Amino acid sequence: MELSKSAGSIKHSAIRRMFNKAMQYDHVISFTLGEPDFTASPNVVEAGCEAIREGKTKYSANAGIVPLREAVAASLKRDMDMEYDPATEISITTGGMGALFLTLKSLVNPGDEVIICEPYWTNYVQQVQMCDGVPVFVVCREDNDFMLDLKDLENAVTDKTKVLIINSPSNPTGSVLDEATLSGIAEIAKAHDLVVISDEVYKTIVYDGLKYKSISQFPGMKERTVVVNSFSKGYAMTGWRVGYAAGPDWIIDCVTKLQEDVAACAAMPCQYAALEALTGSQEFNHYMVEKYAERRKVMVEKLNEIPGVSCKAPKGTFYAFANIKELGLGSQDFADKLLEEKQVVVVPGTAFGEGGEGYIRLSYATDMKNIVEGLKLIGEFATELMNSK
Ligand code: PLP
Repeated sequence: MELSKSAGSIKHSAIRRMFNKAMQYDHVISFTLGEPDFTASPNVVEAGCEAIREGKTKYSANAGIVPLREAVAASLKRDMDMEYDPATEISITTGGMGALFLTLKSLVNPGDEVIICEPYWTNYVQQVQMCDGVPVFVVCREDNDFMLDLKDLENAVTDKTKVLIINSPSNPTGSVLDEATLSGIAEIAKAHDLVVISDEVYKTIVYDGLKYKSISQFPGMKERTVVVNSFSKGYAMTGWRVGYAAGPDWIIDCVTKLQEDVAACAAMPCQYAALEALTGSQEFNHYMVEKYAERRKVMVEKLNEIPGVSCKAPKGTFYAFANIKELGLGSQDFADKLLEEKQVVVVPGTAFGEGGEGYIRLSYATDMKNIVEGLKLIGEFATELMNSK
């Protein structure tokens, strides 16, 4: 008896490994959290509870309840001036992960290549492998603000390339693709007939008045882009598991068809909660982003005060991706030793692919006290490392 080759080849996440290691200690300061430290706003919670009380606890249509699809379409119109037909071009899924997986499963044949920007959110790789596709990595470098270099992208395309996944704002680097880069990516996608999966789950968590732009808004791109989004990050609803895919009807039709066989639908009460999240007051989101902005400022300032460490301010998300190259330890060693010596947990950059070597990811979805205390300890650790050189 043996596991399938595709399942067997999938590795456990390095983030989980750090998490398990940290469990051995009574008190640790953790910067690993990939989810908001807030819970969904009371009106959203109440909408979910009300749906349960009213018996809205059945299977919904595979594509999700109609009012939620309509609300998603309205939000895409409002935010991006894009028209999506809620009947055929939007499917509600179990989180962004459900949307990503079902989209990949709809598109990828065994051996098809899927281009992924590195450092990457690891689930992309695993999901491509689960579809028997071949992940191909394009490294995004710090000197290019961790954006995709168009020449590198062009060089990575082969006649087997079918899909390109972009993630802006990016987990783990916090980078946001600028208009010129998006426009260049769009030209390459059209020239090589690629489908672009645009993972926009952090799109509402951006700073300094940045106006978010999606690749789907570029000429000729709506018909070859699947926008993936979710309620997890922007609305602090990670455990509610609601997301969506919006894209061309022939892909969305398949996503919905496959949904029948995997989850049937996103949980119905959670869909009603998501409906309230989209249509109710947006004040809570703005509050969360304000809090993240305050923490980001402190975190980046403090990181840059540490000898041998530097960090550019992330343009979006709640992650700082700090450069530790001068300290002379690999990312994994740094993270392991920091935990052992100071009981502070960070994610080594290599958890996001080899292109993350020399970096650590710190989530600031944690309170200010932890940020101040944790960075003091990282500062002590880095100083000791520098002195021992
Ligand atoms: N995309 C990125 C880049 C993420 O970081 C995550 C979660 O960490 C997701 C998608 C999936 O989010 P969810 O399935 O909770 O909506």
